[in-house]
Amino acid sequence: MSHLHDLTVAELAAGLKAKTFSAAEVAQHFVTRAQNDINATAHVQGADNTFGTGSFLALNPEATLAQAHAADARLAAGTGGALEGVPLGHKDIFVTQAFPTTAGSKMLTGYRSPFDATVVRQLAEAGMVTVGKLNCDEFAMGSANENSAFGPVRNPWDMSRVPGGSSGGSAAAIAARLVPAATGTDTGGSIRQPASFCGITGIKPTYGRASRYGMVAYASSLDQAGPMARTAEDCALLLSAMCGPDLDRDSTSLDVPPEDFSRSLNNSIVGLRIGIPKEFIGEGLAADVRTAVDAALAELAKLGAQLVPISLPLTELSIPVYYIIAPAEASSNLSRFDGVKFGHRAKDFTDLESLYKKSRAEGFGVEVKRRIMTGTYVLSHGYYDAYYLQAQKIRRMIAQDFQNAFKVCDVIAGPVAPKVAWKLGENANDPVADYLADIFTLPASLAGLPGMSVPAGFGMGQGKPLPVGLQLIGNYLKEAQLLNVAHRLQQATDFHLHKPEGV
Ligand code: GLN
Repeated sequence: MSHLHDLTVAELAAGLKAKTFSAAEVAQHFVTRAQNDINATAHVQGADNTFGTGSFLALNPEATLAQAHAADARLAAGTGGALEGVPLGHKDIFVTQAFPTTAGSKMLTGYRSPFDATVVRQLAEAGMVTVGKLNCDEFAMGSANENSAFGPVRNPWDMSRVPGGSSGGSAAAIAARLVPAATGTDTGGSIRQPASFCGITGIKPTYGRASRYGMVAYASSLDQAGPMARTAEDCALLLSAMCGPDLDRDSTSLDVPPEDFSRSLNNSIVGLRIGIPKEFIGEGLAADVRTAVDAALAELAKLGAQLVPISLPLTELSIPVYYIIAPAEASSNLSRFDGVKFGHRAKDFTDLESLYKKSRAEGFGVEVKRRIMTGTYVLSHGYYDAYYLQAQKIRRMIAQDFQNAFKVCDVIAGPVAPKVAWKLGENANDPVADYLADIFTLPASLAGLPGMSVPAGFGMGQGKPLPVGLQLIGNYLKEAQLLNVAHRLQQATDFHLHKPEGV
């Protein structure tokens, strides 16, 4: 038998139902792996020849084992859910009762939520067992997972490189086989881009499909939760548990009934029109990424899909538009961290204003402060019309461009990012370099469309293979179609089966 950590979610679920192994056994196996990674990370953080990925921020073996025993009891009684006993990790942006929640920020050190995020609860109701909380960029702001207050995450394919962000801990933990699946959130690409950099699969559903209740807010009109795993089949299983209306708790939750996203995985894709935006494959796309994406598209054509050239003319503008709207919303959302209600409180203050100032100055990291300043600026009286309002207008036009494209194609495909994972620290003095690398993920986020990343091959970084993801974008509520295309691709290719060396 293969190791438990090599099994997919679907295989684990089947093995648990067949009593080939128990949920407690599985949970213990993954907790031990996670603990080893934490130990290795603590030992070598900062050095170059490391083995710890830095993916985990918190474990609670007692709580995990208690959940697993409860799952075993349900399995024995034959009352288990679809994912009974299967372990997962949660991005530390989802609040959890059994584990601390930090959102990757010093601001929330020591915070314990009195409730579980809706998505956490739904996955628990499906029977999943939480292994722990996963590192992320502070308040989900970043493209490399270098902005966490608790240290960076490393890419298991090359420990000197970034795993992508902001759900970098989720992606790295899955690639390193520390968990078979995890939650992530995607505001401007944070599920798709780390999935691409770490060679795993991830899907961001249509905005409003998964509840935002209990997700620490970054940019509320963009934030969306989604699953990350090794295969499209596994993502479909998790997504089916995560979606559904949460109208009393999330004002932007869609009133669309839950869906079984596994139902059409095996559908034929003969005749499916796949649009390739010319703006995604032009200048600025690294040659190795281009080669891998082209090969994956050729594979889809072999399966009967029809490749159609399309245009998304405003692609370039998605960067300034997103980096106005997201910081604007962040500056408002983060005003709640004032040192009074919860979170970090400065020790020495003289009056209320100095309490606010000092608590925020001490609690927030550099990138978060940069976003708060940008956001406050674009919303200020003198600049609102010139920046924020213009950005909102172009956002609407970007969404319209997609609808024009969907008149001639069913699904859109292209690269997730312009290049493979870069070196840790490479962009340390150039935050805009990270922003620019978001160019292919931002458009779907601004339009609220579902998007996913599927392993499509490998580029090369100093002799080491580095994963490349193929991005698939669908029209509203077409997640099942994306998962169908991804699953067919995974049946014809084996990129999702490769493992980083030493894992
Ligand atoms: N890289 C983008 C940002 O920093 C997207 C992050 C995300 O999707 N959470 O805002």
